[in-house]
Amino acid sequence: MGKRALAAVLAALLLTGCAVRQVPAEKTVFCMDTVMELHVWGKDGQAACGAMEDALLEMDRTWNASSDASALAAFQAGEPVSQEVQDVLARAQALKERTGGAFDPQLYRLTEAWGFFSGDYRVPTPAEIQAALVDPVYDLGGVIKGYAGGKLVALLSEMEVDRAVLNLGGNVQTYGEKPGGEPWQIALQDPRGEGQNLVVSVKGTMAVVTSGDYQRYFELDGVRYHHIMDPWTGYPADAGLASVTVICADGMTADALSTALFVLGLEKGTALWRASEDFEAVFILTDGQVYATQGVALSGGKYQVISH
Ligand code: AMP
Ligand code: MG
Repeated sequence: MGKRALAAVLAALLLTGCAVRQVPAEKTVFCMDTVMELHVWGKDGQAACGAMEDALLEMDRTWNASSDASALAAFQAGEPVSQEVQDVLARAQALKERTGGAFDPQLYRLTEAWGFFSGDYRVPTPAEIQAALVDPVYDLGGVIKGYAGGKLVALLSEMEVDRAVLNLGGNVQTYGEKPGGEPWQIALQDPRGEGQNLVVSVKGTMAVVTSGDYQRYFELDGVRYHHIMDPWTGYPADAGLASVTVICADGMTADALSTALFVLGLEKGTALWRASEDFEAVFILTDGQVYATQGVALSGGKYQVISH
């Protein structure tokens, strides 16, 4: 090989190397009571991070159930709100119906009674729980990060962005293809920190959303009280699960389903999956057993496959 040919090959190698190892633009945003990490590849990466931060902060203001200044509070008070707010609330109600009420977007009073908004955790009295259950007030905490993921995808699609991975406080949203069609690899958090290293692979634009009893909880007299409520008992859901991960093309749907499946448990959750065609799920039981529906590409540990 002549010198010139060698130089051309080296240049080509360098170029491919650069393309593969292209450095993403990154941003950390604290909002919706959690830390969000944005990674974006492509020409508009930096600008996209800025635009997404603005959009996230705006959504936080709109949907903050505890703030009197939010659009959600305005709706609750019977004041006029935007079409978008009305649409999201209608979608939340439809998801409640789809999950037989396991996902319930109007449990604000209950979550408040357990102290999850203020951080003053306490076990409410049975009378307080009953009073909370008959006073429906909106809290979209169970879907808003997933909804945000979908909205950010729409924003990215309008910019010159090759691909992105957004970690919205445990809700992962991927966007675009990795070079060579490689799948995105998303590590699932081990609910009890006992050394599970499960990894879900997804291709293209997808939401991978996890609900778990380790994400927000307090302990009293050796009992763990976590933040996902059983809408029928008013107590933290106790269906034998430590976490549920849902993989779905739509972020808001994924988020509502992860919360609902956590409430429903493995058996009823499996029945909902069998009746659906738009999602896959990974169930991690409190005893550490793992079950995954047959469409999930899972690696890094033992699990049982749920088939149709
Ligand atoms: P997630 O982490 O998506 O499962 O959402 C949990 C959050 O949703 C809680 O912190 C509450 O704000 C709210 N929430 C709790 N229980 C429910 C429920 N059964 N249905 C809908 N939202 C809930
Ligand atoms: Mg959810």
